[in-house]
Amino acid sequence: QKIGKLRFEAQTDPMTGLYNRRGLDTILKYWQTLHRDFAIIALDIDHFKRVNDTFGHDTGDAVITFIAEQLRTGSRDSDILCRSGGEEFLVLLPETSQDIAEQIAERLRTSTEAMASPAGNITISLGVSLWRADKNGDFTIDQALKLADKALYRAKQEGRNRVVLAPGA
Ligand code: GH3
Ligand code: MG
Ligand code: MG
Repeated sequence: QKIGKLRFEAQTDPMTGLYNRRGLDTILKYWQTLHRDFAIIALDIDHFKRVNDTFGHDTGDAVITFIAEQLRTGSRDSDILCRSGGEEFLVLLPETSQDIAEQIAERLRTSTEAMASPAGNITISLGVSLWRADKNGDFTIDQALKLADKALYRAKQEGRNRVVLAPGA
């Protein structure tokens, strides 16, 4: 039980209760053995430095927790939710088409925009990519994650508060 608890804690982000990057990697390894297809949403809070500067670090933390709650509300039980870095998140959506992944990303975006966070109205930018177990050739899961990140970066460049699909997704 103790080992189980330690393992759980090592794979979880204490602030949000979401998986951390290590927990996500464990699931990715498992899914790879199952040849499971999935979509990836990479998400980053817009102008988060301003939140910290204006309202302080504790409110910043509360906003991160608020986003985690948005993700819980806006995703399905089978989706994997991860806080991958400070104010960055990854969502893995098993057996999910591009259209549905895009719809879910768009819904996360609009619901976040519409809700009052602990720092008032905030927005998020999202990048979407796909992993297809049997159709990728030399393409790796790591590359699929990087494509989601690149799409997220483009969403930032194109003005933030938007969803961008990775090319070929
Ligand atoms: P952008 O729209 O381009 O994403 O702008 P941004 O201000 O959000 O820029 P960036 O993503 O680079 O900023 C991340 C900031 O998040 C910097 C760091 O101080 C803050 N941060 C990272 N982790 C935490 C945390 O756990 N709590 C709080 N309060 N702030 C954090
Ligand atoms: Mg960031
Ligand atoms: Mg940010």
